[in-house]
Amino acid sequence: MTNSRFFVINEHPEGVPSPSLFKLREQSLSELGEGEVRIKNSWLSVDPYMRGRMSGKRTYTEPYELNAPLTGAAIGEVVESSHEKFKPGDKVRHMGGWRDVAQLPGNEVEILPNFDVPEQAYLGVLGMPGMTAWTGLNVIAGLKSGERVLVSAASGAVGSLAVQLARLKDCQVIGSAGSQQKRDWLEHHDVTGIDHHQDLDELKASLHDAAPQGIDVYYENVGGDMFEAALDVMNPFGRIAVCGWISGYNAKDAAPGPANIAQILMKRLRIQGFIVGEHWEHYRRFLSEVGPQVEAGNIDYQETVEEGLENTPKAFLRLFEGSNHGKMLVKL
Ligand code: NDP
Repeated sequence: MTNSRFFVINEHPEGVPSPSLFKLREQSLSELGEGEVRIKNSWLSVDPYMRGRMSGKRTYTEPYELNAPLTGAAIGEVVESSHEKFKPGDKVRHMGGWRDVAQLPGNEVEILPNFDVPEQAYLGVLGMPGMTAWTGLNVIAGLKSGERVLVSAASGAVGSLAVQLARLKDCQVIGSAGSQQKRDWLEHHDVTGIDHHQDLDELKASLHDAAPQGIDVYYENVGGDMFEAALDVMNPFGRIAVCGWISGYNAKDAAPGPANIAQILMKRLRIQGFIVGEHWEHYRRFLSEVGPQVEAGNIDYQETVEEGLENTPKAFLRLFEGSNHGKMLVKL
């Protein structure tokens, strides 16, 4: 195993990326350097934030370099190690995704926690997306039991855990999702499903119907019309945790701001954006709270899986088509 196949992009896309943007390359790996490990990847994560990194502009993280291997979270098995912490056979997580074999400094690799769950759960419900859901609700919004909660992209990797954590706190929960199948899944979990493919007035009317007593906490994954409609149903002193804005990630022009933005003042709202990496000190606490619930089967986590490295771009693009339910993964 001395070769690595990996994806690069050779230009910065505008709008929705075309599958042809992604080029599969191969290179032979050098001998292991001091402290390095070689990992055969078994699962790759594709995540919406990667779209921002493709744009060539610095957002909260560095842009991807053109013609260099793309990176992202991955799970794999150590096949060779010159680092004292790792031995062949260890199951690990790291950021050398978008490729089949990764070679990385050992200090960029971590052994998987040892809950009795499938290893890919550490890319989803017990990985970065799960941690994001927990952080947005607890650290950013300060969710209290019994509150009324709205979550957008509620059946995705982040949203599907957010709605369930809110239900576990006896909150009344409303979630937006783009297909009937996803809304059925929400209803099955005692969450009122709203279709976000409606015009703004219909969306506002649906939210008012679903939340006649208003919303205390809005977990924002989508932005655009959802944000504007949510401002309308927020209760005074409501909190909005702005986690994502996927409706804008492929936009060529900036969308106009919400016409009802003065609601922030009228309702004395608190709106806070956050990046999960800046709250990673809570990861152990998140694992100790959510890990046992996942292990016991009390949390339902969905996965949508594409097979084969060559299908990684397809998996990534599915996030923007809304054709993933739960965590979007690539199985190698
Ligand atoms: P998801 O699994 O939720 O997948 C994306 C989903 O978003 C799609 O399935 C689709 O669902 C919905 N969607 C896609 N395009 C649009 C659109 N134009 N308008 C409305 N909905 C759309 O992804 P994640 O759970 O991984 O991420 C959810 C959000 O959280 C993203 O915005 C992401 O960037 C953000 N995030 C932020 C982090 C942070 O640190 N702040 C960390 C991780 C994620 P549907 O069928 O409902 O349309």
